[in-house]
Amino acid sequence: MTKTREMVDWTYEKLCLKTVKALEKNEFSALYCPSAAEARQYIIDEAADADTVALGGSMSLAEMKIADELKKRGKTILVSKGPGITPEQGMAIRRRQLTCDLFLSGTNAVTLSGCLVNIDNTGNRVGPMAFGPRKSIVVIGRNKIVDGSIETAIKRVKDRAAPPNAKRLKYETPCATTGFCSDCAAPDRICRIITILEKKPKRSDLRILVVNQDLGF
Ligand code: SF4
Repeated sequence: MTKTREMVDWTYEKLCLKTVKALEKNEFSALYCPSAAEARQYIIDEAADADTVALGGSMSLAEMKIADELKKRGKTILVSKGPGITPEQGMAIRRRQLTCDLFLSGTNAVTLSGCLVNIDNTGNRVGPMAFGPRKSIVVIGRNKIVDGSIETAIKRVKDRAAPPNAKRLKYETPCATTGFCSDCAAPDRICRIITILEKKPKRSDLRILVVNQDLGF
């Protein structure tokens, strides 16, 4: 590892640890992970007693290749989109995701004051984050940490997360072409629900892993 890399990681470590502390202050169960490998192992361990595992569309989790690993371990993986899944089957899976044993998701942003900020289209990602599954784990790459207000976090999502997501999903939105948000009125608009988790939802078992590595966008 170069000295530059080492110092960058050290600076981010401090930022991640500050975020963990803020999340804990907001009653979340938060854990610092030096790398995605540690976060991956934590998830595998926590999935041991789960039969059904649902994944909210998350590039962070995709990069960690967690679904394949859990499938190998005999878990039923609930994903609502993919080859051979009809729209009707997708809806049925989204409903099952709400009552799964373990729900895994990324987040679009987290503030240094310990609030999770997400923008969703259908709601099957942000819904189970608040209530439903027996246990939920949210993975946060260091690139999602926002040193600013909730408004700054929402801007981060619309600037950095929504455009590449719209492009990835082949949605016909202006941002999928220009790379910039124009607060569109497109039928495919993905920004339909904004959620802010200020404190841990009362009856949920929600764990948060703050990873000292860039994950997703
Ligand atoms: S409001 Fe429309 S243009 Fe802006 S990020 Fe969302 S989908 Fe893209």
